[in-house]
Amino acid sequence: SEQNFDVVIIGSGGAGFSAAITAKNAGASVVIIEKMPTVGGNSLITGGQMNVPGSWVQKKMGIEDSIELFVKDTLKGGDYEGDPEMVQILAEQALPAAEWLRDYIKVDFYQDQLFQFGGHSVKRALIPRNHTGAEWISKFMAKTDELQIPIHTRTTATALIKDQSGRVIGVEAEKNGQKITYYAKRGVIIATGGFGANVEMRTKYAPELDNRYGTTNARGIMGDGIVMAEKLNAQTHNMKSIQTYPICHIDSGAISLIADSRFFGALLVNKEGHRFVEELERRDVISSAILAQTGKQTYVLWGNEIEKIAKVVSVHKDEFEELNRKGMMFKADSIEELAGKFGIDEKALMAQVERVNQFAKAGEDKEFNHRGGLKTIMEPPFYMLVAKPSVHHTMGGLMTDTHTRVLDTQGKVIAGLFAAGEVTGMTHGSNRLGGNAITDITVFGRIAGREAAAE
Ligand code: ADP
Repeated sequence: SEQNFDVVIIGSGGAGFSAAITAKNAGASVVIIEKMPTVGGNSLITGGQMNVPGSWVQKKMGIEDSIELFVKDTLKGGDYEGDPEMVQILAEQALPAAEWLRDYIKVDFYQDQLFQFGGHSVKRALIPRNHTGAEWISKFMAKTDELQIPIHTRTTATALIKDQSGRVIGVEAEKNGQKITYYAKRGVIIATGGFGANVEMRTKYAPELDNRYGTTNARGIMGDGIVMAEKLNAQTHNMKSIQTYPICHIDSGAISLIADSRFFGALLVNKEGHRFVEELERRDVISSAILAQTGKQTYVLWGNEIEKIAKVVSVHKDEFEELNRKGMMFKADSIEELAGKFGIDEKALMAQVERVNQFAKAGEDKEFNHRGGLKTIMEPPFYMLVAKPSVHHTMGGLMTDTHTRVLDTQGKVIAGLFAAGEVTGMTHGSNRLGGNAITDITVFGRIAGREAAAE
């Protein structure tokens, strides 16, 4: 069968939704096609924090920040391999994007709390209600309902269609074995996410990331958009830069949100009872440090002082229960008991915690110079979980210009084709900083929607 729209969006993560809603508001008829039975992709299963320099929460908390500082942190965090012009747009458009999410999409952000992810100079990540992407995907759904934007699930885009001039005019798709052709009068937006769940594709670029690694990714994240665009000669960039997330479940590879206590001072220790890395280091640095420890695992430890602020155990109750049942996380009245549960050197761990308590009181971490400041771990209950790194984010992807138009291998625009979100490879360089993906997909999703509608 055949369907006709102004703008066709492939993928229903944060980038796809941002693009669809923006294009619709610019007067275009739009459709979202999604290969999975449910929407949201990786965007649904993240913690959902979003970096915004100069946000209303920073102002309220008296935190000084600037567009320049955010640009500096982001470029440095990606080893200066990110595109400076795109990072500048990311930083400048972060606040308007966040205000749009708050005021128009009705995303509920906490008003008095921020996250400071690794590599950031200040606390600048807004936190959505319940600390998960479900908050904004559910609000995106409500908005697409209100705007009557159709979402065709279980519909897999298989190829891009171009006319004789080389302009992209639509998408071939498949639903239950049936072919559907979607024609796009103004443009096609690729928002299919990265390729972290595609072992074959990721080992092509990073051979060491084979199936010994789990992934935090949703099942549909297979690099389809990159493959389809490459058939039209699209240029990719930075494909070898694939990020592992350091703190994941040792069985499923899923990201551990309960271990976000780390951003509030939780320690990472090894089997020998020692810290071995600054807990707020970049993800790649922490991951490789963990892989160098006994059993290629780490243990995350915190006490009630941290829990009172981070509230991770109360927010992520289901995760606690699951990990506890599997013997991967425990709550106890003494640190000795936790050391016993995991077979960690008890004496060394107690001495380590004692040092941390001294550093916390003195306001100086003499071991690893913890940039967020250490907290004491003295007050029960104490918590500990075991974790290991798993494949998380693919920094590389399609090259686009500042209008999110996809570029070919000659550096020329492929007419009618746009891309936004993890499928692109422009902003994060060799290493994405935590909280930058949500900013990226919202900012560039909105630009893609506006630009495609204006074609
Ligand atoms: P982003 O963060 O860039 O928005 P996500 O991972 O959140 O990316 O979302 C990408 C979505 O695209 C996922 O829901 C995924 O299932 C969907 N998707 C991937 N490939 C295809 C395809 N070939 N056809 C339709 N949808 C796809």
